[in-house]
Amino acid sequence: MKICFCDSYAIGGLAGGEDKDSFWRVVAQCTAALPENKPRYVMGVGYPLDIVVCSALGADMYDCVYPTRTARFGTALVSEGVLKLKNKAMADDTRPIDPSCDCMVCKNYTRAYIHCLVTVDAMGSQLVSYHNLYYMMKLSRDLHSSIIDGKFPEFVCDFLQKMFPKGDVPQWVCNAMEVAGIDISSCCVLP
Ligand SMILES: [Zn+2]
Repeated sequence: MKICFCDSYAIGGLAGGEDKDSFWRVVAQCTAALPENKPRYVMGVGYPLDIVVCSALGADMYDCVYPTRTARFGTALVSEGVLKLKNKAMADDTRPIDPSCDCMVCKNYTRAYIHCLVTVDAMGSQLVSYHNLYYMMKLSRDLHSSIIDGKFPEFVCDFLQKMFPKGDVPQWVCNAMEVAGIDISSCCVLP
């Protein structure tokens, strides 16, 4: 195992149940005050949406039990949000968890099969964990390369469009993106 210690700043004490508008404002305040040449790590974050928002605000690193914890409840992460594999509707769904995902689980197992497992056996949650970790790694890679390519705003809009196809992007996300200087008006419906 390789352990890497690097000079960085941790932003902690969040993700403890505070409202989302307070959450992003504290992250924004911290990232604005911290030196730009040192990594900023937001402890205990988070949901895919939180990671995209915090990255827009200048955070670099995260850690969270969410992908594996939610897998133990039979919930898979997908670009539309979440897929609840314990749901009865999954019992005869022969599609993979996410047809666009290249992971080993999506290549080999159907929703129906995983539904059978998660409703009776812990093995099911291992498969969902595998997919969820793959999802988070791909999200991180795509987010990272969009920054390198100078296409981060497009990445954010694409992410939000898939998660909120009706344009009902939460107000706190709109507020945070305004401060981050990212125009997401193309993926929001006006109230
Ligand atoms: Zn997958």
